[in-house]
Amino acid sequence: MDARELLMLRMLRLIRKLRLDRILRVGRPAYAFTDYFKGMEKVEAVKRIFGDKTEEVLRNLKVEFTWIGGYMWVDSRKGHLMINTNYLNKGDKIDIYLDLIHELVHTRQFLQGRELFDEQYSYIDRPTEIEAYRHAVEEARRIGLPDERTCQYLKTEWMNKQDLQKLAATLKVNCIRNNN
Ligand SMILES: [Zn+2]
Repeated sequence: MDARELLMLRMLRLIRKLRLDRILRVGRPAYAFTDYFKGMEKVEAVKRIFGDKTEEVLRNLKVEFTWIGGYMWVDSRKGHLMINTNYLNKGDKIDIYLDLIHELVHTRQFLQGRELFDEQYSYIDRPTEIEAYRHAVEEARRIGLPDERTCQYLKTEWMNKQDLQKLAATLKVNCIRNNN
């Protein structure tokens, strides 16, 4: 590859990056949570999060669908629930349900003005994460999920074996048999 081709390639990359930035900033519409997740306001686990504000909060909650990022998260600027489209379409339904519970706890934390991504804690020690996981695990127990399956739910690619064991211990989920 000569110098000119190299320059062209760099420019193409830059254009692609700029386009991506544009899409990420302005090109993504927000939708009503209740249009996509009907009946969530009637779920006891959700009512436990928001109490008598449940319907109001869900009515005002906005969702954005994206092809970047993994799974779901709450945008710390606008409080929108961000969902990876591929995960929503192809992910395990139980995982998605438990993630919704988890993220709705983050929604409450956002509305309380709490810092969602407090970098002074590692992911598994962050109080906002532990609180969100506690709700999800409690719901997993209520629907009869065995610890082995809950452990599988807790496992993500950004957690190593030690992190998983520590988080599981915090949440009192037995992950011993999933130690691989
Ligand atoms: Zn979380």
